[in-house]
Amino acid sequence: VPDSADAVLEGLDPEQREVATALRGPVCVLAGAGTGKTRAITHRIAYGVRAGILQPSTVLAVTFTNRAAGEMRGRLRQLGAAGVQARTFHSAALRQLQYFWPKAIGGSLPRLVDRKIQLVADAAAACRIRLDRGELRDATAEIEWSKVTQTVPADYPLAAAKAGRETPRDPAEIAQLYAAYEDLKRARSVIDFEDVLLLTVAVLQDRHDVAEQVRAQYQHFVVDEYQDVSPLQQRLLELWLGDRDDLCVVGDASQTIYSFTGATPDHLLDFRGRHPGATVVKLVRDYRSTPQVVHLANGLLAQARGRAADHRLELVSQRPAGPEPVYTEYADEPAEAEGAARRIRELIDSGVPAAEIAVLFRTNSQSETYEQALADAGVPYQLRGAERFFDRPEVRKAGSALRAAARFGGNDSLLDDVVDLPSQVRAVLSGEGWTTEPPAGSGAVRERWESLAALVNLAQDFSAARAGATLSDLVVELDERAGAQHAPTVQGVTLASLHSAKGLEWDVVFLVGVAEGMMPITYAKTDEQIEEERRLLYVGVTRARERLHLSWALARSPGGRPSRRASRFLKGLRPGSGTAGGRAAVGGGGGVERGFRGGGAQVAAPRRTQRTPARCRVCGRTLTDAGEMKLMRCEGCPSDMDEGVYERLREWRALQA
Ligand code: ATP
Ligand code: MG
Repeated sequence: VPDSADAVLEGLDPEQREVATALRGPVCVLAGAGTGKTRAITHRIAYGVRAGILQPSTVLAVTFTNRAAGEMRGRLRQLGAAGVQARTFHSAALRQLQYFWPKAIGGSLPRLVDRKIQLVADAAAACRIRLDRGELRDATAEIEWSKVTQTVPADYPLAAAKAGRETPRDPAEIAQLYAAYEDLKRARSVIDFEDVLLLTVAVLQDRHDVAEQVRAQYQHFVVDEYQDVSPLQQRLLELWLGDRDDLCVVGDASQTIYSFTGATPDHLLDFRGRHPGATVVKLVRDYRSTPQVVHLANGLLAQARGRAADHRLELVSQRPAGPEPVYTEYADEPAEAEGAARRIRELIDSGVPAAEIAVLFRTNSQSETYEQALADAGVPYQLRGAERFFDRPEVRKAGSALRAAARFGGNDSLLDDVVDLPSQVRAVLSGEGWTTEPPAGSGAVRERWESLAALVNLAQDFSAARAGATLSDLVVELDERAGAQHAPTVQGVTLASLHSAKGLEWDVVFLVGVAEGMMPITYAKTDEQIEEERRLLYVGVTRARERLHLSWALARSPGGRPSRRASRFLKGLRPGSGTAGGRAAVGGGGGVERGFRGGGAQVAAPRRTQRTPARCRVCGRTLTDAGEMKLMRCEGCPSDMDEGVYERLREWRALQA
């Protein structure tokens, strides 16, 4: 723990310090990947708390994933600033809603739906729409998109056409399904993930007393990954703030990758317009990646087009030179997976920790092939972004077994001879099918085993951190973590989709399936969609600290028609296209070598941004009035958003009555 507030600022460069010490008023950090945005805001909170300027309990830090929130809390603790709320929009809203529901609506908050896909399937059955698994998933995504963009069922066809959505069915059918889904949800008295935000917004809008109470509690707001904020999340943020402006946002427009869920970088790019007095800081020093990786990232950025690209910032690596990215072309996908698994095996054998390696892909359906290949090569792995850890059936079952053992552990139980906590956990879990060695093969069996392995590891870490901890203590810890969705880290190579890899970093990254049809994905048609695919690749590339492998396969399956080629995004960035099956260094001299890490002013970063005019999000008129700018809408323009929210609240009221 740093011994003073000033010591918290050590290890920040001058611009990061500017962020950390600007504790009042609106602050906006626009910066590229790996420039220390997350680090700067974490130190900012810690500095404010340590200097006695911020009360820990009045700060609300919003991150994109539960994992990021957990990491931020851990970091804050290390910096001597425990007690700050670091949450996702969703978990912060859920907490407030649970607290205020009895008073604002009456009764207790309806249960969150367990298996949404099943509910959509039931709704489809109810209105006699037949959907296969893929269509069901896509239809669910359409319903989610409608909700975060505040589109009611009747408006879906028009809104979907306007937004260029790829609908799995006739838009009218999706609208019908969406309406049936909402009905069914109400009939079963459950709410879904999106309702949590919708209802929180509705309550805060409708009930001034509740809003005042929330505002009295939280006075300083910090938002990470602000480029991917949805209109609904932005609305919630505005309601939390009220007429105050102690808000610090950080983001990188070039990493906007959630547009398909309704997110837009406009909130980030228009921040200065909405908050004319804002402190705007840009960071360009990249502390994460080698010059070789940064060179490729900059190359990708240079080819980007569109609004996000107009705000791109060239990165300057601060790290010593490393190996060139490796590009490999394979005959088919299984060969690609096998090739990656073989290289990973070699890396692990040469001493690279498995947890420092990631395999990133475009779609979750690619995961299976890699799971198989890694299992065959005897490499431990973990999946990210899959079902939420504490919701997995095997984890729930293991939880009840541990709870039962904690309760009855004293009487002639199987735990009598087992002396330390990890062994007790292993003993209990052996009853749930746990074995020391992973099972052969991949898929569901292997995944279940990995979940239990994670619980065993957690028990080990827990008892190491707390001497004398008992099984009952562990059960309490598990309940707390489940409440916060704070999943334990599973040891092993990370397998993740590019979307879920945001904000994270590894020493070695394998970007697989960098092929036409995958990146960009076949259904990306409009220029905007293609640009988002390019940004996705940029996010992938910038996850690597040292080594980066990019690969693609010419055919899907062995002996299949070689119908694919390397992604168009690599054009001009990778060595000539005739590198079949080979390993080749990227041309272009590998970028500027700057063997420099840590603070210091090697590069003078431009500080101030151009002022962007704020526009009404309904009619597009340029806004000048401060109040209107905050709303991002003319006073006179109708707010479709508010309408949808009120409607939902009225429905709940009717239900109560
Ligand atoms: P992303 O856009 O991917 O979210 P980011 O801008 O949030 O990236 P961080 O994750 O905060 O970047 O930082 C990237 C890496 O650089 C981390 O390992 C961090 O510890 C390190 N880092 C950041 N700033 C500094 C610094 N001033 N000195 C040394 N290391 C730093
Ligand atoms: Mg970050």
